[in-house]
Amino acid sequence: MFRSVLIANRGEIACRIARTAKQLGLRTIAVYSAADADALHVRVCDEAHPIGPAEPQESYLSIDRLIEVAKTTAADCVHPGYGFLSENADFAERCEQAGIAFIGPPAEAIRAMGLKDRAKALMERAGVPVVPGYHGDRQDATFLKRKAYEIGYPVLIKPAAGGGGRGLRRVDKHADFEAALEAAIREGEAAFGVSRVLIEKFVVAPRHIEFQVFADRHSGIIHLGERDCSLQRRHQKVIEEAPAPGMTSQLRAQIGAAAVKAASAVGYVGAGTVEFLADWSSGLRADAFWFIEMNTRLQVEHPVTEAVTGLDLVEWQFRIAAGERLPLQQSQLHIDGSAIEARLYAEDPENGFLPSTGTIVALELPDNIRVECGVEAGDRTTPYYDAMIAKIIAHEPTREAALERLAQALDRTVVVGPRNNVAFLAGLCRTSEFRQGRVDTGFIDRMLAAGGGGPSRADRAAAALGIAHLLARNPIDQVAGDDSPRSEGESEMPSPWATRDGFQLGGMRSLAVPIVIDGENGMATISYGISGMRVTVDGTAPATDARVFEVAEEAYVVRHGRQTRVRLKDFSAPASEAGVADGVLKAPMHGRVLEILAGSGDRVARGQRLAVIEAMKMEHTLRAPFDGLVSRISVDTGAQVVEGAEIMVIEHVGDA
Ligand code: ADP
Ligand code: ADP
Ligand code: MG
Repeated sequence: MFRSVLIANRGEIACRIARTAKQLGLRTIAVYSAADADALHVRVCDEAHPIGPAEPQESYLSIDRLIEVAKTTAADCVHPGYGFLSENADFAERCEQAGIAFIGPPAEAIRAMGLKDRAKALMERAGVPVVPGYHGDRQDATFLKRKAYEIGYPVLIKPAAGGGGRGLRRVDKHADFEAALEAAIREGEAAFGVSRVLIEKFVVAPRHIEFQVFADRHSGIIHLGERDCSLQRRHQKVIEEAPAPGMTSQLRAQIGAAAVKAASAVGYVGAGTVEFLADWSSGLRADAFWFIEMNTRLQVEHPVTEAVTGLDLVEWQFRIAAGERLPLQQSQLHIDGSAIEARLYAEDPENGFLPSTGTIVALELPDNIRVECGVEAGDRTTPYYDAMIAKIIAHEPTREAALERLAQALDRTVVVGPRNNVAFLAGLCRTSEFRQGRVDTGFIDRMLAAGGGGPSRADRAAAALGIAHLLARNPIDQVAGDDSPRSEGESEMPSPWATRDGFQLGGMRSLAVPIVIDGENGMATISYGISGMRVTVDGTAPATDARVFEVAEEAYVVRHGRQTRVRLKDFSAPASEAGVADGVLKAPMHGRVLEILAGSGDRVARGQRLAVIEAMKMEHTLRAPFDGLVSRISVDTGAQVVEGAEIMVIEHVGDA
């Protein structure tokens, strides 16, 4: 066995690999980009080394830099995880050349499967059924269009190199073909550097069923059963399970044998996944499974296979790379119970599932259930990497029990800060279609199209609760005493209490206070009577079934898994804590500069608004941290800025 491993990845998968590596007694070596210096994967490994700036191209995708660190740390092997360089044949080769074992298949096997068109041709020759279509070399548009017509609409245009559902284009009409082709080529080129495409018959309403395979260096090769990953959004997996609903052991043996044949055809070694589409209109049948692609790496959803087989797939990867034989024979495989995994993302289901960045203010993950997580409260989600926060995996004797367990675990999960899909996932678990195991790859998109997806109305009850909490922290007499003279200095900061529209009715004093709910302007009404203060938002009283997390001047109210962010309007989000003391104003998050409100050389007063930054549709005001002079303006209006970027610098007046 190896003595040390360099983990060429980040996030939950880096933490996951480190856990098994430690159990096997390996020294764990983490690498990190500038955005990840304090990341969890850095903290859980024995040592950690910087590899470059936040941009993946210059860090987690930098082969030179990774090889250099692997050499200087004398790593015995490199585990690439998934994503990043995990399916990069050049990286595998460079590791081997440097005498460092690559935890993955040989470079030739990665190359053979890396391009979908070549892989399909290879599979056809090996006698594995593939999705019908055209996957040859000829690429002129007229020819491809004719092929599409012959295949019959709808068709799917796929970039030959690809992953994560990117660049896939469904075409329903002959007239739409050229435009879709152009788009697929453009996306394939931009994302993967390959302009070739293939055309497939679009299988309407299929299930995505994939097989986990494992091969050793001694000609041993087996499958570990299937995973059903039909719950997808725009061709990306959302919830995965094992076994597939409706799978029989006879069918598993048949399709498993095809998967093994596929892997054997390329001289496979290590962990791999052979993906199929299944037409299940008349039940799952061996003659209605078609190969789509092989992923030559560990898969995001590998934990469901681990759960039902009782195996540690990462351990197997290490053992096989170290030259050991497969620990099991095909006949010894047992599938026990049912496992379901949900992927928790920092994204906004009400806003096109846009990734959401920012500090994770609070994170409560369920216990008594398997959770794979790459972050802790206080960490940030950044725009640089995949927005996945964690995976939650339920394993129970039956599918019904596993699904119920997962739904309950999601109900107990609280992510505060970035927008997230927790409530969306819990909702999915409760749809009758999913409960009955009757979903295909188009289910989520159809559900969203039918009206689940748009922005919901602001949750006024949640907002009222948040405002009540914020006010409870501000002494009430400060509010009520609008007739009393202000103390010195208090008027510096514009304050809602300066509003003079308070009115009195039968001993009840009411005040209209401007607030901001999820970035939109609103109004709260605050009334004071003998029973104390009462807050309403558009007549709605505070929720009683929600939790409030206060951060600086803002409250995050989590109600039924949905987050409402609220603040009093004139207390803008504070300038980023970092750097304020030295007068450097920084962007609190990735975004666009909407306004610069001061000029170089201007004198500014503490609390004065100096810049407005729009990020994820929210506006953040940067204010002067002290009385001073603007000594530098570092960006122009309209500029895109990364989190932490310098916006302007304020000097103390009288500074040398
Ligand atoms: P799989 O094919 O394993 O089910 P995907 O199709 O979602 O999973 O592909 C893996 C994707 O994971 C990559 O395309 C990338 O966007 C993302 N990814 C890469 N590294 C990480 C990571 N460390 N944490 C979370 N996601 C990652
Ligand atoms: P990627 O490399 O992006 O994972 P895949 O070829 O695996 O690309 O396809 C991703 C998903 O797109 C599949 O899981 C399936 O939902 C859908 N898909 C792929 N090919 C077809 C097809 N021919 N017909 C219908 N859906 C398809
Ligand atoms: Mg795929």
